[in-house]
Amino acid sequence: MKKSILALSITAALLLTTGCASKESVVKKDLHAHHATHHWGYEGESGPLHWGNLKKEYFMCKEGKNQSPVDIKDTRNIEKKHIQFRYFIGGNDVVYNGHAVQVNYKSGSFITIDGHTFELKQFHFHTPSENTINGKHFPMEAHFVHKDKEGNLAVLALMFEEGKYNPELEKVIESLSPKIGVDTPMKRAANASALMPTDVDYYRFNGSLTTPPCSEGVLWAVFKKTVTASKEQINAIAKEIGHPNNRPVQPINARLITQ
Ligand SMILES: [Zn+2]
Repeated sequence: MKKSILALSITAALLLTTGCASKESVVKKDLHAHHATHHWGYEGESGPLHWGNLKKEYFMCKEGKNQSPVDIKDTRNIEKKHIQFRYFIGGNDVVYNGHAVQVNYKSGSFITIDGHTFELKQFHFHTPSENTINGKHFPMEAHFVHKDKEGNLAVLALMFEEGKYNPELEKVIESLSPKIGVDTPMKRAANASALMPTDVDYYRFNGSLTTPPCSEGVLWAVFKKTVTASKEQINAIAKEIGHPNNRPVQPINARLITQ
């Protein structure tokens, strides 16, 4: 009797241990699964070359023919209209979402491009630039993401060069939080139009999101004129992101880049 009780308790203890161990391994496995199937990144097995295989919904990352970013080189001159801006101060909070530093914009700021109106939703930063011009990367690129009433996206891309301190960009930097995924109210609301170059001439092409799910049908306009930020400012954004967050340039295929 005593013996069987002992045997029972050993079995129970073993079961408990095994139970614990397997529970732990399940947690680890789940994390791994999460990593493998949902969590995309910029390095190794979750990096851009593998995005199309990480999740069914990301198939455009490998199947798409109009993917972004691109190298802007062979361009066609066309007569095009200026982008009209109706931007108001509205960058209210900043977040490092694990992929990019992003400023969320309050509703009410719009652009009109070729008679089509889009509302500014957010802008975010890539270090180094994603798009290149004649093969050249810039140390930083900002994407101003706009949406129309039907959900179509238009992204204005702005290249930063290292140079003069950028006072408007400082509003983003001073509010950065080390916490991933936490929206931090900005100490001073950002004004997207104060980040824009004085000359807003642009290259235009059709493209995609540069992050999974790499959806296409995105109107891209890349400003020809760059703006500057100090080396310290660019470093501050890069440091917050912690690793390069640029997808490599994608084949242009049958697309036309106009200017
Ligand atoms: Zn972007």
